[in-house]
Amino acid sequence: KPIEQLTLAEATSEINEIKAKIVQWGVEYYEQDQPSVEDFIYDQTYARLVALETKFPELVTADSPTQQVGGAPDSNLDKVVHEIPMLSMGDVFSVEELMEFNDRVYKNTKDNLEFNLELKIDGLAVSMVYENGKFVQGSTRGNGTIGEDITKNLKMIKSVPQQLSEPLSVEVRGECYMPKEAFAKLNLQREADGEAVFANPRNAAAGSLRQLDAKVTAERELSVFAYYVPEFEVLGVDTQSAALERLKELGFSINENYQKVTTPAEIHDYIDKFTEQRNSLEFGIDGIVEKVNDLHLQAELGNTVKVPRWEIAYKFPPEEEQTILREIEWTV
Ligand code: NAD
Repeated sequence: KPIEQLTLAEATSEINEIKAKIVQWGVEYYEQDQPSVEDFIYDQTYARLVALETKFPELVTADSPTQQVGGAPDSNLDKVVHEIPMLSMGDVFSVEELMEFNDRVYKNTKDNLEFNLELKIDGLAVSMVYENGKFVQGSTRGNGTIGEDITKNLKMIKSVPQQLSEPLSVEVRGECYMPKEAFAKLNLQREADGEAVFANPRNAAAGSLRQLDAKVTAERELSVFAYYVPEFEVLGVDTQSAALERLKELGFSINENYQKVTTPAEIHDYIDKFTEQRNSLEFGIDGIVEKVNDLHLQAELGNTVKVPRWEIAYKFPPEEEQTILREIEWTV
């Protein structure tokens, strides 16, 4: 039923129904690494909740999934407190919506400001803390404030430098992912061993990283792309693109497919290019991320309770199941 035609009672009941579903799907996805629905179903349902809460703001509660970063930390793993919360990200599903987001940013900053476009790697966010250049602590995002301690697991991953090239004390965040080929092989092996297969590379990466026994992590092929330094002053840079280059100098692996843009035409071209190249990349992406390139402006724009106001994800339309299957066959 169109939202405009709903009574308050009907909206309340639909909101409660959707919330229960989203909470359940969140547990399966974030905590058990075994989602039961495709991401686009989750995204559509979530978007309906946002639309309902926008029309009926009196029905927004603090425990709504729209007000919280997903996933409780696993009780078997030690906890880490994120002094600077690890947030989620707003998303749009069309170029038109992306342009509306940009118009809002321009209004709060200036016209035609520079964005940095990056691939949205389909993995899970990790935090890596360094003291005087030495890797001392790694954690997952968890509920954004409390994450899981995965220090020993991250130590097993080659692209996580144990020692930086400079003795900096800094927190670096990035995306841990499993390359498609490794994912396909792992699932074949699991099938042969009679174990449950992972739904996608993202869940395989999460399941492989969040292990009590770090030896299991070591056996899985995982990688990390670094993309964010909350306290960027430590790096002596002023832009996101420069931060990426500094991270590379320090010894991190970064995703090189980033691009600075200022015009809608450049944004369109980037989206078209990677919509087309998506299947031939060796890692999964579920969209692109657009970030205000000026880090000082990012800080000025700040965050809502759940998402930064200076970045947005453009999500690709769902892939045909056949394409996914074909892709997996090719990569094995
Ligand atoms: P998100 O995963 O859509 O976006 C935020 C995340 O993007 C960040 O935390 C970071 O980990 C990642 N990211 C990848 N590349 C990045 C880059 N270059 N720069 C910055 N960040 C980058 O948001 P979310 O809150 O983690 O999860 C919501 C999404 O998860 C949903 O939209 C849905 O697709 C999926 N989900 C699916 C189910 C399901 O049952 N299928 C359940 C819950 C969530």
